[in-house]
Order: sequence, then C-alpha cells, then structure tokens
Amino acid sequence: MHTPFCVVKCGYCDFNSYAGVDDDAVQAVLSAMLDELRLRARGLRPRTVFVGGGTPTWLGAQRLAGFLKDMAAIVDLSGVEEFTCEANPESATAETLQLAVGQGVTRFSIGAQSFDRERLNFLDRPHSAEDTMGAFAAARATGAAVNLDLIFGLPGETMEQWLSDLSTALDCGPDHLSCYALTYERGTPLHARRARGEVRAAPEERTRDMLLETRAVLGDAGYDAYEISNYARPEQACLHNLNYWHGGAYIGIGPGAASHRSGRRSTNVRALGTYLRWVRDRQCACDDAETLSPERRCREAIWLALRVVQGAHLDTITNLTGIDPRVLVGAEIAAAIDAGHCELVRGALRLLPAGLPFADGIAADFL
Ligand code: SF4
Repeated sequence: MHTPFCVVKCGYCDFNSYAGVDDDAVQAVLSAMLDELRLRARGLRPRTVFVGGGTPTWLGAQRLAGFLKDMAAIVDLSGVEEFTCEANPESATAETLQLAVGQGVTRFSIGAQSFDRERLNFLDRPHSAEDTMGAFAAARATGAAVNLDLIFGLPGETMEQWLSDLSTALDCGPDHLSCYALTYERGTPLHARRARGEVRAAPEERTRDMLLETRAVLGDAGYDAYEISNYARPEQACLHNLNYWHGGAYIGIGPGAASHRSGRRSTNVRALGTYLRWVRDRQCACDDAETLSPERRCREAIWLALRVVQGAHLDTITNLTGIDPRVLVGAEIAAAIDAGHCELVRGALRLLPAGLPFADGIAADFL
C-alpha cells in the first residue's frame, strides 16, 4: 500500500511522494486506493502487508487507523505473518502507533536516517534526533518489532561520524536496521545540486569502507547481515522484502505502486489526479506492464537473489523460469567466481565478502 504523502519532499528522494497535498485530495486518494484494493485483491489472503510511501504516519492517528480498518474489511488478513507500517519521526506519535497496532500492524519501520542535525538538514529531513528517540520509544511501547532506516556516505561524512550514528541507533536496541549508502537519483534536487557542482559525492572507497565496517559492527552486536543493506536480530528479517528479493508475487496498491506475479510486472500511474481518474473510469491504475521472457526472468532472479545471504539457488531459478542459469549466464558465473567475488555452494551462487562492495556491479553483469 503506497500512501504518497509526506510533510516535506526530501531532496534525495525519488519515491512517488508529495508534500502539501490538501485534505480533500488526500481523502480522495485514500478512497481510490481502497477501490483499487477491492478491484485487485479481494479474495486474496496475503502473508505479508507493507504500508509505506510516502509517510503513512503523516495521515495522523485517526485517519491512518481508519484506513487500515477499511483495508482489513476488504482483504482477508487472517494469514498475515508480518504487517509493516512505515513511520517518520516527526509524525510517529504514541497514539498513531498504538492505533495502528490495534489494526494489525506488527512491525514499524522508522526513517531515522541520521542522528546528527547537520546531516539531517543536508537530507532535508524535517525531524530531530530527539524526535527519532521519541518515535522509537513509542513504537517499542506498542510491542511491535522496530526497524530503523539509516543513510551513510553523505558528502564530507567521516567514518567516525557514521559509526557514531550507527552506535546511537544500536543504543536504541532495534530489531532490524536498514543501512543504505546515499544515492543521487536522476530527477531529484540533490542530483541537480551535484550536477551544478554544489555538492561533491563521497569517494567510492570511503562508502565501501563504511559498508564493510557497518557489517562488522552490526555482526558483533548480534545482527545478521541477511541482505546487502539489511541487518536483523534472529528471526527478525523482513519477510515482505525477502519475498521481493526471491522474485515472489506481490500486489502494489496506490499511485506509482509496482506489482509482480509469475514474471508479469506492472506499475501504476504516478500522478495523483490521473490515478484518481483511472481508478474511477478505467477501473485500473496500471500505466505500464510487461511479461518478462523466461530468459529475462532468469537473469533478474539472479540479480535480485544475489542481494540476500543465501544467494541465488540455481536449481530453484531453473524450476521457476525454465531456464538453467548455468547455461544462460555460465560465463558470467565463472567470471564472478574467478574474480573472487562469488562462490558456488551447494548449488547457490553467493557473494563473498570481497564482492560485497561491488555487489551492484556484479549483480548487474547478470542482467
Ligand atoms: S520522507 Fe521518505 S518518502 Fe517522504 S520525501 Fe522523504 S525520503 Fe521521500
């Protein structure tokens, strides 16, 4: 469920999210999302639910709880094992989080990003470290699992500064941490600032060192690095995202949301007004759909699965796509192994620690 509203639009963000949307439009989009859910998901019994965006907690306690309640009246949530709701520190009040848990939420993902005022300002985040601490405590008090999102590799950020952020996050005691390197996505204000020379990206080696140091620090603290950027205490890995990395099926509801089922991928239209019209008039918000060829599906399955610690299980991918990766991309597999970046263990191609800093490039070689 993609709720596309935020209090401000962060300069680095390329998600389909909007700040300053008026109340009537917000209500109309939420209603249309429930209509889309009725059209596409009635009769389904999902294993995971992820309400993200955007900032779901920006909706406020009553409206978010009402929305979640309406969702539950449409879809059978009795089989849900994990129900995540994203939350941002400035709007994650105790009441909002408590009411969300009352509607079935079992896990909060809080967008902390940093605990340093300057770095938060650079990212255009509207919250303070104190807000994050308050949101974390409120989330903990509900009994739900809690993830903290952090960003490293900001311009001029030193290893010490990053480790200080990481240490503050660890002091909170989250169940899960997502630590992403800052990226400069085309079309964002941050990308434009870099193009104008106003911002200089951190050197690649420093960002790679930060990634490796993050794994070491979090490993020592008892967090399993189960995906390149995601760390969890035992049994706390995000089931929803694991399904995505393993090429599973999911339905995305809302403006710009993406869906996948058996190699058929689709994306909803992004603009709010068009989304409203299409759901109403066409009974479908889909803007772009493609059915992947077996070959493409095989390549993408390896690309995604290389992100997770178990790696890409080649027989599973063969069964899923009808194409044996050993035949299709045998040369690429051999090259990654020869370079010392990957290993083949019990039929699974996995990244080695030496390959981690180059993971994106290695995975892209299979596309
Ligand atoms: S809060 Fe998240 S979704 Fe909203 S603008 Fe910032 S990065 Fe994007």
